[in-house]
Amino acid sequence: MCGVFGIHGHPEAANLTYLGLHALQHRGQESAGIATSDGQQLSLHRGMGHVIDVFTPEQLDKLKGHNAIGHVRYSTAGGSFLKNAQPIGVDYSRGSIAVAHNGNLTNAEAVREKLEARGSIFQSISDTEVIVHLVAMSRQRAAEDRIADALSHVQGAYSLLCLTERRMIAARDPMGIRPLCLGKTRGKSDDWVVSSEPTSFDLIDAEYVRDVEPGEMIVFDEGGMRSLRPFENKPRHMCIFEYVYFARPDSTIDGISVYEARKSLGRALAVEHGVEADVVIPVPDSGVPATIGYAEQSGMPFEMGLVRSHYVGRTFIEPQQSIRHFGVRLKLNPVSDTLRGKRVVVVDDSIVRGTTSRKIVKMLRDAGAREVHLRISSPPTRWPCYYGVDTPTRSELIASSHNVQEINDYVTSDSLAYLSLDKMVDALTRARVTPPGKTALPMAETPGAGNSFCHACWSGDYPIEFTPHPRQRQTRLLDT
Ligand code: AMP
Repeated sequence: MCGVFGIHGHPEAANLTYLGLHALQHRGQESAGIATSDGQQLSLHRGMGHVIDVFTPEQLDKLKGHNAIGHVRYSTAGGSFLKNAQPIGVDYSRGSIAVAHNGNLTNAEAVREKLEARGSIFQSISDTEVIVHLVAMSRQRAAEDRIADALSHVQGAYSLLCLTERRMIAARDPMGIRPLCLGKTRGKSDDWVVSSEPTSFDLIDAEYVRDVEPGEMIVFDEGGMRSLRPFENKPRHMCIFEYVYFARPDSTIDGISVYEARKSLGRALAVEHGVEADVVIPVPDSGVPATIGYAEQSGMPFEMGLVRSHYVGRTFIEPQQSIRHFGVRLKLNPVSDTLRGKRVVVVDDSIVRGTTSRKIVKMLRDAGAREVHLRISSPPTRWPCYYGVDTPTRSELIASSHNVQEINDYVTSDSLAYLSLDKMVDALTRARVTPPGKTALPMAETPGAGNSFCHACWSGDYPIEFTPHPRQRQTRLLDT
């Protein structure tokens, strides 16, 4: 996963992009970068780590210009190295371009092999660099036509921001798998902002205008903003996992409030898999809204039975002698007085490998819980994501080789149940919101309505064909 943010026409473009990225930090913590343009030249700064660590005031000062794009990265394709950080910026025969990408291209390796056979030299193993090469090779003249031409050769998920000397260009893949939305800073008329999630608009006091449509390309330049439709229409397939876990709960994506969606999933879970118990507790933070929904629906008291530390850094000193549950205790600690002697329902959004759930169940029992019933607000995760979510290989996903009873035995809960796919899709469509001042659209025309989601990680129905490439590319040149 990654996050992208861009702004066009603002005197403080770099500073606002820094704040925009800060609000998208949950989408990627490995690296951050900003590219700016002053109409003549591009400037770029990238670094490993959190936004707050990558940019000093002096560095932001050097990023001149009224236009900027930024990126936070959570590596999916390519390893965790500075050379894979984004935006990727290059000089080529027609000028300079910087590219920031959220998503994953499914044919990147095949395209790259063709380009390498013709002599192209790649600097990184990130799939995004393929787009940069295709833009540079295009025979079209205008930047937006070169980008559209490049994107016509790639498949997969992309929410993309490109910056040239004079233009910012945003594009969302024809199925709209990853989110991207459009806003405006308040006061002036031509300061456009584009972001993975609208929460970043709140921080810079910008106004949400609308979501970028699947298959839409928007060009921002001196003439204002123009919407283009260079790709053929495809059925919308927004990723459900964004609503379940990934996006911030204070975001609304494609007309669905993430917070309401999670509550709605929790309510559906209580209806589908209710159980006699004394309290319902979340695995914080991502399980909290679903637990509120579960408590509302079941009438069971909501308690914070686990408290989360927000100060878990990337590095910590492990004790020399083993301490039970050390890793998970760093992040979560039980509230014994709330749990002692109780029958507890614990709600989480997903089980990936099962290791976290197993530790949590043990921790709750050690803290005195009499029974522990685990409820998951999505179906069993059986299939890896090829469109940008960092999931392990199929064999590491516990649900790909174990049924629910076997997973229950492994995590040692008294009972385990997952929300079914149908109920999940129903619950999401019930979380649609109508933005203030707009009239509600009929169900069929509403973004996110009907069968319009990607749920491949649960169903195995991949909307874009993906054949795993026989060769797994590794970084061979270690640039430290
Ligand atoms: P596991 O121990 O592998 O089963 O991890 C399950 C936990 O990881 C759950 O609490 C989820 O909220 C969280 N989770 C699910 N998917 C992801 C992901 N792609 N990246 C990071 N955490 C995740």
